Amino acid sequence: MFSVYIHVPFCTKKCPYCHFFVTPNDLSSHARFVAALRKEWELVQTLVKDASVVSLYLGGGTPSLLGPSHIQEILSWFSTQGEKTLEVNPDDVTAEKMRGFKEVGINRISLGLQSLDNSLLKSLGRLHTAEKGIEAVQTTFQAGIENISIDLMYDLPGQTLQSWQRTLEKLPDLPITHLSLYNLTFEPGAVFFKKQKQLSPLLPSPEESLKMLEMACMLLPTMGLERYEISAFAKPLFQSQHNTGYWIGRPFLGLGPSAFSFWKGKRFRNICHLKKWEELILQNNLPRDFEEQLPPLASLHERLAVRLRMLEGAPRAEFPVDKALIDRLEAKGWIVQTPTSISLTETGRLFYDSVAAEVIMLPEAPSS
Ligand code: SF4
Repeated sequence: MFSVYIHVPFCTKKCPYCHFFVTPNDLSSHARFVAALRKEWELVQTLVKDASVVSLYLGGGTPSLLGPSHIQEILSWFSTQGEKTLEVNPDDVTAEKMRGFKEVGINRISLGLQSLDNSLLKSLGRLHTAEKGIEAVQTTFQAGIENISIDLMYDLPGQTLQSWQRTLEKLPDLPITHLSLYNLTFEPGAVFFKKQKQLSPLLPSPEESLKMLEMACMLLPTMGLERYEISAFAKPLFQSQHNTGYWIGRPFLGLGPSAFSFWKGKRFRNICHLKKWEELILQNNLPRDFEEQLPPLASLHERLAVRLRMLEGAPRAEFPVDKALIDRLEAKGWIVQTPTSISLTETGRLFYDSVAAEVIMLPEAPSS
């Protein structure tokens, strides 16, 4: 069993905080892109053999720009009955398009709302307004897609606790089943990265940022959205099957430029260049520019760090790591142990990056 991620790089405009591989939308290149994707899927068949696809995720970029007929073609290559998610930007939502996606088999939509504050949306370079974001959720629901996830961002330049609270308080009116929460990070390759010095004074203080997270963790469950992973909240039975795969270490194959894969303990990434990606595929080459296989112990520790992101924790039997490490994390108040599992405490969730760094750091091998 494995998952498939498809990276569609087209975007109408690049948002200044975005570090993903995206290219300007160009209608004339869609058919060629889909043909290359098809060929890439054929090339990886030697890996896949009889394994079945559990979930499919079309991300990007803005994959909805491809429109229902190209999406239908892509879906036709996979026989999965599972979750089929399409990322959509609110400014790309129309009733006709969403009905089209539903008809061709998309059963989950992930909408990049990011905020319901118009001045913040503007400073994030988003093309939609808060009103359009709300309308996009309603239109998607009315088109018959009932599994709707939204993304929200906090820790933004100029964001106040009051603005964040107002955004959260508008959510009960929305027919959503899932919410992913992101704090703004400054990543190389994003315009904001170059402007970090200028933007930093406008960021909420660490105390305010912590309060924003606490506010979300307090308010979202009152709307039926329970936290099940550090940054993900869902109504019962609507936890993302696809994202859960990443956290539990399920293999996945990534298709499209810049897409990552994790297969038989190996990680690889496709080249971050649309034309070169297409050319390599047309020459029957796998379009990879990076590949690594971690040694078994490092891989075990890395998988544990990721698994701890889930609130249910990690089954001890799957992670036979050094007891001293677990005891040390417990002494710091970051994890709790039961005879069968290890999970983060509330403090551990707040300081997840420190927990992960400690889990991933291996004890030095004794010198001979
Ligand atoms: S944030 Fe989303 S919409 Fe904006 S450039 Fe990146 S992928 Fe495109």
